[in-house]
Amino acid sequence: MARRDRDSRNAAGCLLKALLVVGLLVVVVALFATFYTGPTPKVVVESALPGIGRRTPIQIRIDDPQRVQKVKVEVVQNTEVKPVLEQTYQPRSLWHLGSAPPLVLRAEVGRETVQGLRTGEATVRVTAERAGSLLRSPDPVTAEIKLPVRLAPPTLQISSTFHYINQGGCETVVYRVGEGAVRDGVRSGDWWFPSFPMPGADKQARFAFFAIPYDTTDPSGVRLTAEDEVGNRAEAAFIDKFTPRPMTTDTIQVTDAFMNKVVPEIMGQSPEVADQGDLLKNYLWINRELRKKNAATLKELGKKSELKFLWTQPFLPMPNAKITAAFAQRRTYVYNGKNIDQEDHLGFDMASVTHDAVPASNSGKVVLARFFGIYGNAVVIDHGYGLQSLYGHLSSLGVKEGDMVQRGQELGRSGQTGLAGGDHLHFTMLLQGLAVTPVEWWDPHWIQDRAARKLGAALPYKP
Ligand SMILES: [Zn+2]
Repeated sequence: MARRDRDSRNAAGCLLKALLVVGLLVVVVALFATFYTGPTPKVVVESALPGIGRRTPIQIRIDDPQRVQKVKVEVVQNTEVKPVLEQTYQPRSLWHLGSAPPLVLRAEVGRETVQGLRTGEATVRVTAERAGSLLRSPDPVTAEIKLPVRLAPPTLQISSTFHYINQGGCETVVYRVGEGAVRDGVRSGDWWFPSFPMPGADKQARFAFFAIPYDTTDPSGVRLTAEDEVGNRAEAAFIDKFTPRPMTTDTIQVTDAFMNKVVPEIMGQSPEVADQGDLLKNYLWINRELRKKNAATLKELGKKSELKFLWTQPFLPMPNAKITAAFAQRRTYVYNGKNIDQEDHLGFDMASVTHDAVPASNSGKVVLARFFGIYGNAVVIDHGYGLQSLYGHLSSLGVKEGDMVQRGQELGRSGQTGLAGGDHLHFTMLLQGLAVTPVEWWDPHWIQDRAARKLGAALPYKP
């Protein structure tokens, strides 16, 4: 009897304890649901540029975004608040305890995306609104950055006159650019010709050598441009006269004998050429793809050009040579009566006696002297400011990369290495890697009018 009493007392005690625990849990849960609002999101806002101009990309990252229900991006100037972006989200339930991946948002602020923006300073403000609990609505979390607003592009004042240019040819422009410019030069089709500080003048005085590509017949898109660090861009059209120089055409008969001569030699010296399985496919790969790779290398070489004039006299053609092909020829390649390819020939072919001496067209620095794809044994001389000359198909090389050479100095001997059917020199001039007609650079009067007169004392030219 006594034991049973004790047992029932014990059972009642246990029940009471359980009820207490449950009651406590209910209170905790109720308090939680009433007041707990979930983790606080962390908002970070960053600008890709040091200020606001045309279009400044803004990146927003929100860590712990479980309870975020709305994100607003605004630009604030004085008392004006301009909305940029508003995004709503379905907040996660409070009972969902795991973490959530960060929210990443992108916005663009600038005169093209925000109406009524003014020069001065602006604040980019990001507000993350959070879902509340039963009784409590938490404050939103905000983050902001202050940025200068600059809406006017850099100034451009062209001081040179008579910008006369030929299709496939070069020209010089001299100008002053405003302080804020970080990139200025001439845009010509797909080609960009950077400017350089005028030697002996302040750094706002600039010049650019530029070209109109050999296959461009409409020069109306050529612009002198200057851009500041927030993307404001000034543009000026300045070409006074354009002379078309239509490309010529030619047909090349491709024979097995020719392919057997050139393909194994080029493949043996060009690790980038993978065997395509047969002679014709290998030849076509060389004529198309290796040609493109060589062109890309020339463009890279152009970017590394010295920032000084390494020459003072007109450029020289190969002496006593017969011109067998001129600049800018669109060639159709025919094999067994079928058109198999079309490529552009962008130099002068000059034939003299076999293994004749090939002189440097002008003074400069040898930046390439090796087997070079379709050009075979080749030399490239840098003359400074993006201007370079190329000598192809040589039988032997007499200079090495890094050598300084004088105008007329022997670079090697003519030959028929690379894509060549007979002994000749393939010569071309390059501006920033774009093949341009050498005829202009061979002409002392053209250099005088188109470059020396505009550059004045900066180019110590002695025709
Ligand atoms: Zn050629």
